[in-house]
Amino acid sequence: MKNESSKLSSSQPLDSLIAGRWIAHKSKVAVTNPVDGSTLAQVSSATPDDCLSAVDAAQNAFISWKATAPRVRAEILRKSFEIMIAEQESLARLITLENGKVLSDARAEVAYAAEFFRWFSEEAVRIDGDYRRAPGGANWLMVSRQPVGVALLATPWNFPAAMATRKIGPALAAGCTVVLKPASETPLTALAIAEIMQRAGVPDGVINVVVPSPSGPAVSAMLKSDKVRKLSFTGSTPIGSLLLAQAAEKVINCTMELGGNAPFIVFEDADLAAAIDGAMLAKMRNGGAACTAANRFFVHEKIYDAFAELLTARMSALVLGDGLDAKTTVGPLVSKSQQQQVAKLVDEAKSFGAKVMCGGNASTDGSFGYFPTVLTDVSFDAPILRTEIFGPVAPLVRFSDSDDILAHANNVEHGLVAYVFTRDLGRGMRVSEGLESGMVGLNRGLVSDPAAPFGGVKQSGLGREGAHDGLLAFLETKYVAGNW
Ligand code: NAP
Repeated sequence: MKNESSKLSSSQPLDSLIAGRWIAHKSKVAVTNPVDGSTLAQVSSATPDDCLSAVDAAQNAFISWKATAPRVRAEILRKSFEIMIAEQESLARLITLENGKVLSDARAEVAYAAEFFRWFSEEAVRIDGDYRRAPGGANWLMVSRQPVGVALLATPWNFPAAMATRKIGPALAAGCTVVLKPASETPLTALAIAEIMQRAGVPDGVINVVVPSPSGPAVSAMLKSDKVRKLSFTGSTPIGSLLLAQAAEKVINCTMELGGNAPFIVFEDADLAAAIDGAMLAKMRNGGAACTAANRFFVHEKIYDAFAELLTARMSALVLGDGLDAKTTVGPLVSKSQQQQVAKLVDEAKSFGAKVMCGGNASTDGSFGYFPTVLTDVSFDAPILRTEIFGPVAPLVRFSDSDDILAHANNVEHGLVAYVFTRDLGRGMRVSEGLESGMVGLNRGLVSDPAAPFGGVKQSGLGREGAHDGLLAFLETKYVAGNW
């Protein structure tokens, strides 16, 4: 599936960004093209000491950045948004090269990612406070907001642009300085965004980027440094839980965006065409490698067969291949291990009685692809329903008791997002309220929006990103009791 135009731009940064300078390190980490397993680039791998230099740089820059006028901070974010949109095509190609997702998904990601800069450029000038007389009448209560301080931002490989801007945008808007640690599988996009921000006028040290490999010792060192005051992490629940424990030592303020296992409930009165469109979006955005991906399809028995047939037709019509090819509609997964994990889950589901309607196998052309798969006859207790699949696989469970389905939907440790399809809005709202998830798509297969609070409950995370909440995550509340 190799594409001839799979070369990086000569201006692609490959080194650490520390205190405004691009610094090469002796040790390198290879970035692989998931379409053929070839090496795309060798990126400088930062040691724990290099990472601590980045923390120092962020600490030094914090003093002046927090004092910089909100309007100035806003305009740098706005300029970054404009450059990202002007360079959407080259950024999208870069995402496809290192992540594998199809170009249309990558273009959508760049637009979504840039929107966080626009949204938080608008939020930067809306940091509020409060001024009131105390209820007892004896004094005044004055409340202001101050930036938390140096923020460590760690991001996953599945949205290499959007997960970075969703954190950088609010951090810079709030007056924090940052050290960004992208996933070592997809660091190129984050480095390119940092370079764009330099062109947009971000002062030296306000944004630093390091790619330590392995990441564990470097992240631990930064969390122990006494200078990092905020950890904003997006990634898997096990790593999030590990980092929460490490952050506890210095009582670091944490925002955790962790794994999902979204139910997709289709009631018998649903608009079937809308439910299929929603299912394709909720399942196949990013080739299934999204924390918001529908993972467990619960379909009422009255429309189960029709739903399964229509979904199978849509899934089997998808074309697996090189994300840069115009005819491709699903790209490969990011790595061999991810491909193997998906194959293992499908094989296990088959051994539990699931029937393969389409797909059910990995590509054999040397790419990390997996064919879009629909599984029917999946039982409520099948192990595949308890695991985040992170690939193009839709397991379908038949249900008959509508009163019971909420309990099944809630019967997992994750609670990021859920989807509900019904024409009865009263039922839709009742079920939405009962779902143990931070977000619900009601007759919609997509919830992500920079203007909306994104985040989960239970083991899907702590705190919210996007909306005004995303800004508050980088601010501390300061209360002054006054008398005069
Ligand atoms: P991951 O393995 O948890 O990695 C996430 C980040 O943590 C990467 O930067 C990774 O760096 C770093 N990391 C890994 N091990 C570490 C350690 N021992 N100490 C410190 N840092 C460490 O997750 P992933 O596989 O990249 O991403 C997929 C997961 O992210 C899924 O569970 C998905 O649901 C979740 N996700 C959640 C959201 C959300 O908003 N809730 C959004 C997107 C993705 P290296 O790459 O260098 O190991």
